[in-house]
Amino acid sequence: MNTEKISIVIPVYNEEQVLERLFERLVPVMEQMERDYEIVLVDDGSSDRSLEILLRHAGDRIRVVELTRNYGQHAAVFAGFESSSGGIVVTLDADLQNPPEEIPRLVRVMEEGNFEVVGTVRRSRKDSLFRKIPSRIVNAMTKRITGVHLNDWGCMLRAYRRHVVDYMVDTREHSTFIPALATSFAKDVTEIDVAHEERFAGDSKYSLTRLITLHFDLITSFSDFPLKFLFYFGSLLAFLGIGFGIVLVVARLSFGAAWAAEGVFTLFAILFFFVGSQFLALGIMGEYVGRIYREVKKRPPYTIRRIH
Ligand code: UDP
Ligand code: MG
Repeated sequence: MNTEKISIVIPVYNEEQVLERLFERLVPVMEQMERDYEIVLVDDGSSDRSLEILLRHAGDRIRVVELTRNYGQHAAVFAGFESSSGGIVVTLDADLQNPPEEIPRLVRVMEEGNFEVVGTVRRSRKDSLFRKIPSRIVNAMTKRITGVHLNDWGCMLRAYRRHVVDYMVDTREHSTFIPALATSFAKDVTEIDVAHEERFAGDSKYSLTRLITLHFDLITSFSDFPLKFLFYFGSLLAFLGIGFGIVLVVARLSFGAAWAAEGVFTLFAILFFFVGSQFLALGIMGEYVGRIYREVKKRPPYTIRRIH
């Protein structure tokens, strides 16, 4: 019999139209599970009546964390992680696109399989094409970057073990992508299919620019490929430049000043040499910057699941 407490963490940003319905559906589900639970709602600086509605429901099992301004979904979830205490933490969107009715199954899969992270794949996803296409690109990219083969990284209905959540909170990273960060601290990760619904009311809070920012965070915080690229590209250019410079000098010496357009080619040779070495220097510096970046992120070099 599993008795671990379950924490549900929900970021809320201008969701006044859906909150009542959210409580109506979520609370009975949690009650039916007949175990200890808490619901942590994070008001991410909403400018509508969301906070007011949340506070009306606040109580023993329902905690409301109020942020001072809008920090974005992932930051809000972090704030929720920090005030949660359950052994299993489930994240959920407020807009009811992820049905709360799937939570018991999510938790069951986690406990039966002894998993550390359980992700979800949205069966017949109900979003606009504008939302789906970037997601598809990101899913493919995230698979490559993290090396973890999950099919759907964007769906926030996910369950995490306490130790994974603690490791994430401890990193104190500013711009990050929670599903990817979590899998970097966990070994036993799996995915289940869940239903997906239309947004209950209101609009998606992600504009194109916010999506781009989020995905840029994902690439830069989980891969140093852009820096490595600079290094490889720089080295290649440097060798080509230096090689070409040498060829010009040799040709100048063997064919005379007339061939080399009276010194112009020599100037080119010198130029190529310096441009090449500059790129190389930039690449080496990039490598160091990459190392500094890894250090300041302060991700733990290893994470312990349990000591036997
Ligand atoms: N959200 C948030 N802060 C933001 C943007 C969104 O807390 O700055 C919350 C929002 O209230 C919702 C969840 O994050 O609970 C997902 O947002 P949305 O449904 O707009 O995203 P989409 O489903 O389009 O990915
Ligand atoms: Mg949504």
